Amino acid sequence: AKNLGKDNFQYYNKQLSLNVHEQLKIEQSLKDAIKNGELYLNYQPQYNLQTHKVIAFEALVRWQNKELGVVPPTKFITIAEDTGLIIDLGKYIFDVACRDFIQMKKVDSELHYIAINVSSVQFKDPDFVQDVLKIVEKNGLKPSDIEIEVTERYIMEYSEMNLKAMIDLKNLGFRFSIDDFGTGYSSMNYLTKFPIDVIKVDKAFIDGIPEDNNNVQISKAIVALSKSLNYKVVAEGIEHEKQEDFLLSIKCDIGQGYFFSKPLSIEDALKVLKDN
Ligand code: C2E
Ligand code: CA
Ligand code: CA
Ligand code: CA
Repeated sequence: AKNLGKDNFQYYNKQLSLNVHEQLKIEQSLKDAIKNGELYLNYQPQYNLQTHKVIAFEALVRWQNKELGVVPPTKFITIAEDTGLIIDLGKYIFDVACRDFIQMKKVDSELHYIAINVSSVQFKDPDFVQDVLKIVEKNGLKPSDIEIEVTERYIMEYSEMNLKAMIDLKNLGFRFSIDDFGTGYSSMNYLTKFPIDVIKVDKAFIDGIPEDNNNVQISKAIVALSKSLNYKVVAEGIEHEKQEDFLLSIKCDIGQGYFFSKPLSIEDALKVLKDN
């Protein structure tokens, strides 16, 4: 039994060190990723469910490294947050998204906004508000052209400082959406303390439509409550027409997902806008 314990320990240790090695490799390569031009953005369209027009895009970061290949954001964003690299990375993402949004607006002047994901760690940077304002102005955009996506988890862990940054940005004219709504177990009452414009219903609920009655009822309740509190609602991860039909029937405003379009390169996003 003693031996087994030892082997188990070694096995565990080996797994752990492998993981640490991979993390270190990602961390080291990520440091140079911006400089080496390895980071770029894809854009996933958001559709008005009634008119079927593209009204906005969400910027999603991509990383292509020579040795590591394509590293998904789910793998490197956490590492960027833990190491502080997210600060520079976040500013870079904001800048590229603003530049590309100018291009998009040239093709379709009626586009509403560009949605940019922002990590809670970025909000803790005391220069965050000034930095994003500078980036937006430098690119000739208005704060109202930008929708900042924060996750429901971030909202729940807020400190007074984070809330202040959000309120300052809101007062400057930035829009806010709550990402992954429904997964963080917060109450709507709590959420009303934050300057939010949009609720994004998490894909986990959309997945079950129309077969799973619980998910159907939850989606219905989130949409109804959001609307009564004057939030716009975006449904994420729509993959089938039946989901779209149901969301339309409960008066959800906006839809996003593979059923409409996968995240696109800037070139392809501009093509989509040409006949929007
Ligand atoms: P998210 O913000 O919830 O983004 C939605 C994710 O779902 C994206 O994955 C998108 O490609 C994917 N998706 C969209 N429609 C569908 C669908 O119909 N079916 C399925 N199966 N998936 C769909 P992605 O691009 O891999 O991003 C994963 C997460 O990484 C994002 O989740 C976000 O939390 C984070 N992330 C991505 N880009 C950024 C960024 O620029 N900054 C920060 N801080 N986080 C980012
Ligand atoms: Ca998002
Ligand atoms: Ca989401
Ligand atoms: Ca169209």
